[in-house]
Amino acid sequence: MQPQTLFDMSDRGKRCTRFPESDVPVSEPSDLLPANQLRDKPPLLPRVSEPEIARHFARLAQDNYNVDAGFYPLGSCTMKYNPKVQELVAAMPGWALLHPDTPSECVQGALRVMWELEQWLAEIGGMDVASLQPPAGASGEFTCLRMFKAYHDSRGETHRNRILVPDTAHGTNPASATRCGYQATALKSADDGRIDLGELESALSENVAAVMLTNPNTLGLFETDILQVADLVHSVGGLLYCDGANMNAIMGYARPGDMGFDAMHFNLHKTFATPHGGGGPGAGPVAVKTHLASFLPVPRVVEQGDKFDWDWKQPQSIGKVHGYYGNFLIAVRAYAYILSLGSDGLRRASEAAVLNANYVMEALAEAYDLPYPGPCMHECVLSAQTIAKETGVRAVDIAKRLIDYGLHPPTMYFPLTVKEALMIEPTETESKATLDCFIEAMTQIASEAHINPDLLHSAPHSTRIGRLDEVKAARELVLRWQKER
Ligand SMILES: *Cc1c(COP(=O)(O)O)cnc(C)c1O
Repeated sequence: MQPQTLFDMSDRGKRCTRFPESDVPVSEPSDLLPANQLRDKPPLLPRVSEPEIARHFARLAQDNYNVDAGFYPLGSCTMKYNPKVQELVAAMPGWALLHPDTPSECVQGALRVMWELEQWLAEIGGMDVASLQPPAGASGEFTCLRMFKAYHDSRGETHRNRILVPDTAHGTNPASATRCGYQATALKSADDGRIDLGELESALSENVAAVMLTNPNTLGLFETDILQVADLVHSVGGLLYCDGANMNAIMGYARPGDMGFDAMHFNLHKTFATPHGGGGPGAGPVAVKTHLASFLPVPRVVEQGDKFDWDWKQPQSIGKVHGYYGNFLIAVRAYAYILSLGSDGLRRASEAAVLNANYVMEALAEAYDLPYPGPCMHECVLSAQTIAKETGVRAVDIAKRLIDYGLHPPTMYFPLTVKEALMIEPTETESKATLDCFIEAMTQIASEAHINPDLLHSAPHSTRIGRLDEVKAARELVLRWQKER
């Protein structure tokens, strides 16, 4: 077996580069630092040759499944193919090497990109103003809930301490509410997977600060009662928040602002073509209606005559939620993506995303349970409950077996309201041939479950590392190389 880490390959005789002896006079280290802060042994760094390093990282890249390698139907994550032109644009030195402290008169182009992108996102969301500062969807939620609190406080309504969240919501929704000092209450969904108006009505009160909704929701279903929901929430003085992670389903067709939402976030790394899955960086811009605009994070990028500048003078602002102005290069990618597709292209992307999800859902509705009948939006949620009952094979086994077919598994066990959930989001960038290949693999795996369940329990068989103990991996993280393990 090949050595796993650069440390395992290390040998004192190896090196990459040889520097000439330094002819710069240096002071004694002890003149610069107190003695108790000096190392007494050299650091334990790997000593390897350049070809070894190159091959090590190439092998790591090959071991990693990625969207350039194949289909990646991870529900709720919108793992669409990211066109390379956005990467080329973001890597241009004029953007990539900009220092955030550069005076604004020297970075007019960058400010214009940010200003225009804010306008475009506000337009796509049906909102009035936007801020690019939050670095992720969860951070966008946090930002808007902080703004909601500032808004209610400014009206003397400091008693509002509750946020309502449907039981199908992403875990970040109740987490953001709790982080902002609110009490999060789960709303039980109706039998059709959508919000239950009766439940909502009985939970609403003068103490509710906001209701957080995802539309389409995490079951891939459009909230058809959304206008009534907005009226109900507003009638008790509450605000309505849109988790915009599923914008890929409705771009150019429907706008949260028109549905009555007061504020929302976008996930640029989902909908607007920034590669993700490796933990970032991403961007979660927020967009709000006028009544919330004065609470947005500072600084705001503003247009003054024919120039752009930073405006820090916003007395009601909640302050900053991220260093500098957010993850600028993600904004550049989104800008290039929106510009290259145009409004018509965004609309067609959503159309294809919805069509692809419905194609997959229909094709798999026999081999798997379909807890909520379609049509669906950009993703569908199947269940392996019958298979589990008949064969003992669970959703996790099916997901792991897909890896043997060279495909990335869908999201499992989410939303929490569906037992043995398999949440599939094919996205618009996949061909019919790829979808057919996935459908065939899923169908075959369903029959394997009946013929040879052990094959699935022990999957995957094709990877260098087999099934992991995921609980142990999460509880006992090993993030550094250790000499003895
Ligand atoms: C991804 C996602 C989030 C959180 O977004 P991050 O950018 O990962 O913080 C919130 N809600 C839904 C429905 C999501 O899919």
